[in-house]
Amino acid sequence: MIRKVYPAKDLCSHCGLCDTRYITYVKESCAFLHQHVAELEEKTHGRSRNLLSEDELYFGVFKKMLVARKRQPIAGAQWTGIVSSLAIAMLESGLVEGVVCVQSSKRDRFSPQPVIAKTREEVLSARVNKPTLSPNLSVLDAVERSGMKKLLFIGVGCQVEALRSVQDRIGLEKLYVLGTPCVDNVTRAGLQKFLETTSSSPETVVYYEFMQDFRVHFKHDDSVINGPGRKWEEIVPFFALDTKELKDVFAPSCLSCFDYVNSLADIVVGYMGAPFGWQWLVARNDAGLEMLEIARKFCDLEETPVASRGDRRNAVQQSITAYDRALTLPRWIAEFLAVIIDRIGPKGLEYARFSIDSHFTRNYLYVRRRHPEKLETHVPEYAKRIVAQYRLPEN
Ligand code: FAD
Ligand code: SF4
Repeated sequence: MIRKVYPAKDLCSHCGLCDTRYITYVKESCAFLHQHVAELEEKTHGRSRNLLSEDELYFGVFKKMLVARKRQPIAGAQWTGIVSSLAIAMLESGLVEGVVCVQSSKRDRFSPQPVIAKTREEVLSARVNKPTLSPNLSVLDAVERSGMKKLLFIGVGCQVEALRSVQDRIGLEKLYVLGTPCVDNVTRAGLQKFLETTSSSPETVVYYEFMQDFRVHFKHDDSVINGPGRKWEEIVPFFALDTKELKDVFAPSCLSCFDYVNSLADIVVGYMGAPFGWQWLVARNDAGLEMLEIARKFCDLEETPVASRGDRRNAVQQSITAYDRALTLPRWIAEFLAVIIDRIGPKGLEYARFSIDSHFTRNYLYVRRRHPEKLETHVPEYAKRIVAQYRLPEN
């Protein structure tokens, strides 16, 4: 049942929980009404993160972190398709009976359609990001009705926090959670504004990503071909984004989120701690290590250790002021800056810390200004420590 108003009101990320009978537990489960990451880390991983370890402060509890890519990427996947191929391997090896993932609606490639996939084809149809808020938990009633006992859930941090809060009530014997990092998500209307403001051909975009080279990469469909058989790639430097126009585009839930790295998943597959073209894997607990071994066995991975280079701090401090004043640079200066920062700027884990610092400081200011009454309880201790490294505007 789709509601007009959700309990978290403007902060609701439409994770789907409240479209199910589990709405009964919303007060203690919703990431925006009752932030309880540390408590759930303890329950899920056996301990909460060590705030004195810089890696755990930033990336959460983990047992193994590495960089990998599929030797033969899946065509049309967001990166190389590790998420889709791991899900297929788990399904086909009988470890799980179904996979909660999100396909596109038939009318619109960017409107999310959560499903319980039971075949390789259904998992593959969910590949690539739907860069819009997605109610993945809305299928929980159907999971319960199906009598399924072993499930893989693919999702982002706010969905996973709510799922972890109700998981003991779903009747599952085994739940695996494959998370992705997530930031700056938008409603479908917000996405339209972002595409129209940023891309020169908004109606043909099939994919985009904010990448480690400080540029947004858009891929377009076959109607815009740049050379024989090649999909057109359009590249826009971060510093050329129209910050003034885009300030209100991101969903309020994402402007007040402090779980960028999906702290409660068993394994996380992203890109931001990896070199360009590679993916970043964080196995947080024994279930995550088990999933990593399956990926190694069945997903044809090439691996390399994580690395870190550079110092992000000055760039973050400058980005706070630039974002706050909504500064946008002329295109040629933005392009020049992207080249320089890409050459000498933060790389690997330091790039991931750059991205976390920039988003946490921005979001801390957002919550302080829009919801000051929530600041103390909504911002987790690890995020307060990260934000405290920087000078923020007084008001
Ligand atoms: P694929 O094999 O293409 O599979 C993608 C999977 O994502 C599918 O199974 C699908 O079910 C799921 N999915 C798609 N859209 C959504 C959605 N809206 N909500 C929940 N699940 C969804 N990684 C970073 O390192 N840094 C970031 O800043 C970052 N931002 C992201 C923002 C969003 C909105 C999303 C959805 C993901 C983000 N990621 C980020 C993760 C990254 O873009 C890739 O999704 C991840 O590396 C997996 O790539 P893949 O090729 O293995 O995935
Ligand atoms: Fe309900 Fe999820 Fe919205 Fe919270 S974020 S109010 S749990 S739908």
